[in-house]
Amino acid sequence: MTNPLDKIKPRVRELRAYTLSPDRASVKLNQNENPWDAPEAIKGETLRRMASRSWSRYPDFVPLSLHEKLAAFAGWRADGVVAGNGSNELIQAMLMVTVSEGSRVLISEPTFALYRQVATVLGGEVLSVPLDDDLEFDPIALRKAVEQVEPDVLILCSPNNPTGCRIETRDLETLLDATRGFVVVDEAYVEFSGQSVVPLLERHRNLAVFRTFSKALGLAALRVGYLLASPELACEVSKAVLPYNLNAFSQTAAEVAVELYESELKPTVLRIVEERERLYEELRRVRGLAPVASHANFMVIRSDMEPGRVFRELLARDILVRDVSGYPMLKDYFRVSVGTPEENDKLIAALEEIFVKELA
Ligand code: PMP
Repeated sequence: MTNPLDKIKPRVRELRAYTLSPDRASVKLNQNENPWDAPEAIKGETLRRMASRSWSRYPDFVPLSLHEKLAAFAGWRADGVVAGNGSNELIQAMLMVTVSEGSRVLISEPTFALYRQVATVLGGEVLSVPLDDDLEFDPIALRKAVEQVEPDVLILCSPNNPTGCRIETRDLETLLDATRGFVVVDEAYVEFSGQSVVPLLERHRNLAVFRTFSKALGLAALRVGYLLASPELACEVSKAVLPYNLNAFSQTAAEVAVELYESELKPTVLRIVEERERLYEELRRVRGLAPVASHANFMVIRSDMEPGRVFRELLARDILVRDVSGYPMLKDYFRVSVGTPEENDKLIAALEEIFVKELA
């Protein structure tokens, strides 16, 4: 008897599925979300606008009003914006229009696992440049790899998930000039880093920037992301996006979140950045731990104790973090999102207890 699964692409059969542990805890620091729920002002205004809208009618074919607000928010042109059902969807669409059997996709690892996953499913050959020994981007190695590999697409996550390092603008410009392919920069965590590559869009038509509402903007449940690129590239990527990908509720909430960003969301972003610095300093003092400075709302921490065990010890104390020890270069590391001050206090106290006990 033949196995129907033989018809699945062998490269897909070989891939490990992207999974997340189903564990739950009251202190949830495993997905780099905003620890504060969307403010009442944003929820209330979204519900008010949705109540007066017909639910039996399709959403806008192209969510123009959101594109215009996003253009003003990000400092780019509205005809170079595509909003979607989470940035994952748009990253997939970008790769769908650029990657086919034999295409070369260059990434820097460790990084967000989705890039390798989607590029592989589409038939691309994924080549990877390691971060340097300090878990920073290695611009010289990247430049060399670009020249040798001549990738169709180079994907960089900045700030990088899971390490929190950032690509410097001048280094990115060098890479943009050195490649004939596209350069994708995933700015999912940009609001925490204070530096964006969007100003480079004007001069570099091979640049595509991806952003999300799932982190700083506090709408992970509603699935909204957006692409910023030249109008020509935005138009091509749109061809791989399904019609009505963005539902009316999420579109409305995203518009309200952008309108109220300065008053309602920015203060929490600043608070998270302050807490990130406090958490870093406090964890540096715990014997057996070495946190890595980060530009995002999370950090990886090197641990003298096996990361799987740290994960379980924290879970037993009702705290959920991410074991990233399966990532390249991160065998001894776990990752924590920056929580509310109370959550961070609980994390610090729990880690002090776990590590003091271990060393006693
Ligand atoms: N890019 C990166 C680097 C991420 O870490 C994540 C979320 N884990 C995403 C994209 C996905 O964002 P979205 O929720 O908008 O699909």
